[in-house]
Amino acid sequence: MRIILLGPPGAGKGTQAKILAEKLNLPHISTGDILRQNVKEATALGLQARAFMDRGDLVPDELVAKMLMHRFEQPDIKEGFILDGYPRNLVQAKTLDGILQKKNMGVDLVVYLDTSEPVIIQRLTGRLVCSKCGANFHIKNMPPKRDAVCDYCGDRLYQRSDDKEETVRKRLEVYRKETASLIQYYQEMQKLHRLSADEDAEVVLKSIIGLAAGIQDDPFKE
Ligand code: AMP
Repeated sequence: MRIILLGPPGAGKGTQAKILAEKLNLPHISTGDILRQNVKEATALGLQARAFMDRGDLVPDELVAKMLMHRFEQPDIKEGFILDGYPRNLVQAKTLDGILQKKNMGVDLVVYLDTSEPVIIQRLTGRLVCSKCGANFHIKNMPPKRDAVCDYCGDRLYQRSDDKEETVRKRLEVYRKETASLIQYYQEMQKLHRLSADEDAEVVLKSIIGLAAGIQDDPFKE
């Protein structure tokens, strides 16, 4: 099953994608995570991407396309994937169509996680991320059991530099300008399903599972 999670920053794409990927035994492909890993390792891509990310801007399409093509060469995507953070604009949507077409694949489901601005700001400015496994927590909504320590792998939690309120507002502006048009793109392809992502993560997850189950016969059976 090939699923795209679409929505503004703070919609919970990463949180949902991580759980779905485990449940469906599919790879979670997050372009943001891959870019952050490159920044951390100071690769050529990381060095080029860093300034864009720190400002809350999109990293140039060609750089991200190359990175994605490389990821799609891995054999684990054969059974499907949960894509989070890509595409971010129409050029990227068409790049993805091209990559999939070459592999005789298509997208099965695009879930648009519709989220209101106050919820986005509250979620992102309180978000904590694990520096090792990438798990997300929230200082109020989903606090870790131990202060600043990941419940899953015990590594250190940190605040993403682009989760400061000013940068969050910039990322939202970029989302409205560039990414929101994808809602119509996937609507016209009859792939889009809209959910309110202001709800708690478990409620949203249940709805996504319901949608996926409707697309394919019981993809959640053990
Ligand atoms: P995310 O983790 O998805 O919120 O992404 C964090 C940052 O990484 C974004 O604000 C962008 O700077 C960059 N980024 C992630 N995915 C993409 C993409 N598909 N295209 C361009 N930039 C991206």
